[in-house]
Amino acid sequence: MLSVVKDFVKGRNVFTKILVANRGEIACRVIKTARKMGIATVAVYSEADKDALHVQMADEGVLIGPAPAAQSYLLAERIVEACQQTGAEAVHPGYGFLSENAEFSQRLAAAGIAFIGPGVRALKQMGDKIESKQIARDARVNTIPGSDEVLRDAERAVACARAIGYPVMLKASAGGGGKGMRVAYNDQECREGFERATGEARSSFGDDRVFVEKYITEPRHIEIQVLGDAHGNVVYLGERECSLQRRNQKVIEESPSVFLTPETRASMGEQAVALAKAVDYQSAGTVEFIVDGDRNFYFLEMNTRLQVEHAVTEYVTGLDLVELMIRVAAGERLPFTQAEVRCQGWAIEARIYAEDPARKFLPAVGRLVRFSPPAESDGVRVDTGVYEGAEVSIYYDPMIAKLITYGRDRTQCIARMAGALGEFHIQGVTHNIPFLQALVLHPRFAQGRISTNTIAEEYPDGYDPALQAPKDLTLLITAGGVIHRRYRERAVQITDQLPGYELAADESWMVLAGGERHPIVVEPTPDGYQVKHDGVTHRVTTDWHFGDALFRGRFNGEEVCIQVERRQLVYRLRYQGSQIDMMVLPERVAELYAWMPVKQAPNLDKHLLSPMPGLLMRLYAAAGDPVKAGQDLAVVEAMKMENVLRAEQDGVVSRVLAAVGDSLAVDQTILEFE
Ligand code: ADP
Ligand code: ADP
Ligand code: MG
Repeated sequence: MLSVVKDFVKGRNVFTKILVANRGEIACRVIKTARKMGIATVAVYSEADKDALHVQMADEGVLIGPAPAAQSYLLAERIVEACQQTGAEAVHPGYGFLSENAEFSQRLAAAGIAFIGPGVRALKQMGDKIESKQIARDARVNTIPGSDEVLRDAERAVACARAIGYPVMLKASAGGGGKGMRVAYNDQECREGFERATGEARSSFGDDRVFVEKYITEPRHIEIQVLGDAHGNVVYLGERECSLQRRNQKVIEESPSVFLTPETRASMGEQAVALAKAVDYQSAGTVEFIVDGDRNFYFLEMNTRLQVEHAVTEYVTGLDLVELMIRVAAGERLPFTQAEVRCQGWAIEARIYAEDPARKFLPAVGRLVRFSPPAESDGVRVDTGVYEGAEVSIYYDPMIAKLITYGRDRTQCIARMAGALGEFHIQGVTHNIPFLQALVLHPRFAQGRISTNTIAEEYPDGYDPALQAPKDLTLLITAGGVIHRRYRERAVQITDQLPGYELAADESWMVLAGGERHPIVVEPTPDGYQVKHDGVTHRVTTDWHFGDALFRGRFNGEEVCIQVERRQLVYRLRYQGSQIDMMVLPERVAELYAWMPVKQAPNLDKHLLSPMPGLLMRLYAAAGDPVKAGQDLAVVEAMKMENVLRAEQDGVVSRVLAAVGDSLAVDQTILEFE
């Protein structure tokens, strides 16, 4: 922590009660800092969030409406009423929802309530991509070549695209959250992209203005954190690289960026500050840039709010950005100058999403039957808004938690991240932890050779942990042996066994895994076990108990952590992004097991199934209709994303089993083919 920050006089000028107009991890994050500052907190919540963690953490809670955000978290009126009802003097909006809504901040101002964010002018001018680009250019910030005008129609889009030169990107001026953009490589794609971007912009943002700009190939996304006060001071707090994205949404972020030279960093920082000053920016904000292979950087957009990934900046600067936001909103001066900002060490954030990487990262929902994050320490931080037993619903963002690690350098930081992901145990909701492990252990990540296309290039079909070659098969077989030995030891202790027929913790087994048979011998030693496999003896020590989800131990002296789940006869082991199912059986049983019938998976070619729980928005086919492979069949909306389901092959629809407006379960049949 910068020493100057401690000089803030506690409580001076600062609010006594604030309302947090958000939910989930960010609401909890804001409440933590407010509490540290001695400020009372008010949570708002929808009917779906009665038992949510942010409501439990706050001093008071106000119910603001039904589950859909449009009837609760997005209703400015309700938030203002909640402030008046509880006497909150200021509102922290978090990110998403009303955080960048100028009208909301005006309403608060009219009611005499402070907005913990930038002024109305900055919100308005930076909230619109076309306008913000113009302002950026006037402030001498590098911008991406483009039309910078609202496109009237598809023909105008094509004319502009030709003038810019393909490839181009069509973008919604009101866009956000990776929505409302399309890449086009030729005229036809440009026309289609224009229609799609326009449609998505209209339905997501109620504003169908679209513009076009050059598409930068193989770019990196690097953004600058800025912070301004009401006295004209603006500083930048280093950068964050957020190049690892899927569907234009961030997955892993880090600070600093491996790619920037001190010169590029300084000129990006200075341009970001120039832009912030041009709109009289008074809060924490982020200026996003796209950087090409030659380190040319171009302004993308400015996010006039706290960013999801702000914690990596907090780690490297030692600052609490929420505290600073609250203080500058109360009129305090920035307690340090640009020259006093120090960035030290390395921080990485991984976003843990309820989604299925094996199904093209589609959102998942369900109850968190197990939710056990790694222990927090100086190098490990977990920001979350859920707890064991909580439900992840279709109504809100699918992010379950953020895991942030810190190290003196990138290597240590990555190792901590890999370790902490291995200890993060979630069951009940499909999640992306194995995928994140694979990403942070990928050689391209270690080398820093990443771009916004990396995930699409390396994982074109998504990521299925069960289909990965196990990271270290010998280790897993050995662990399986020790796990089963522990199970047998426990079984032997069960009382009242028939004399003469007592169970023995036998030692020679066959491990069946990945269609292969691996004979092993597991023998106890004074401090653990030795496992003979393939002519080699491995030493294992562990304090693992049957039922523990994490198997921690030393394998030949090396520390490891493997996640274990028992499913009847099968042990499911997860390690470094891969997953393997195994059975540990006496040899004779293993032989007989080969004769067991295998259940065939049903043939699904004849059905169109909903790939996720969601709402059936549109259906493009009726019974009797012939369909062509690739043709759009239905649109399912979940987690604010529209997902188009297409025909896998030519055929004829025989039955329609769902209607527009239906709530669909995962794998529910929508159409049947002849
Ligand atoms: P960041 O840039 O902070 O990483 P994103 O741009 O991914 O974050 O957006 C943060 C959150 O805000 C996400 O939950 C996203 O869905 C939501 N969000 C951002 N912009 C909008 C918008 N214009 N409309 C609706 N939701 C948005
Ligand atoms: P959002 O408001 O949805 O966050 P951004 O304009 O910040 O939209 O873009 C999101 C992501 O889309 C960027 O991080 C980048 O990966 C990609 N992107 C946006 N514009 C371009 C462009 N002109 N060329 C290449 N990629 C782009
Ligand atoms: Mg962005």
